[in-house]
Amino acid sequence: MECEMTETKTHTICIAAEFCKGCAICTTVCPEDLLKIDHSRLNTQGYHPVCVDDAQLCVGCGNCTIMCPDNALAVDISIEQAG
Ligand code: SF4
Ligand code: SF4
Repeated sequence: MECEMTETKTHTICIAAEFCKGCAICTTVCPEDLLKIDHSRLNTQGYHPVCVDDAQLCVGCGNCTIMCPDNALAVDISIEQAG
């Protein structure tokens, strides 16, 4: 399964758009409101998948990954902050 990666200085947000059912749960639990439903495209299941609006705002809380019923999101805090 292809994963769309968005990297920031501290986090990598990975969206498996083909798993996404566009339910928007993740968009409602993101404290930084950076996840949006992409109404400009459909995945092969026929759903509008979620996309990342401004990845730099991600605080790595993991709310989106916990709440997604389809395991379509992952956030890695794998890049250590300098200093
Ligand atoms: S980890 Fe937290 S801040 Fe980052 S996209 Fe998910 S819900 Fe939003
Ligand atoms: S919670 Fe999961 S299935 Fe629902 S829109 Fe977000 S990524 Fe897609």
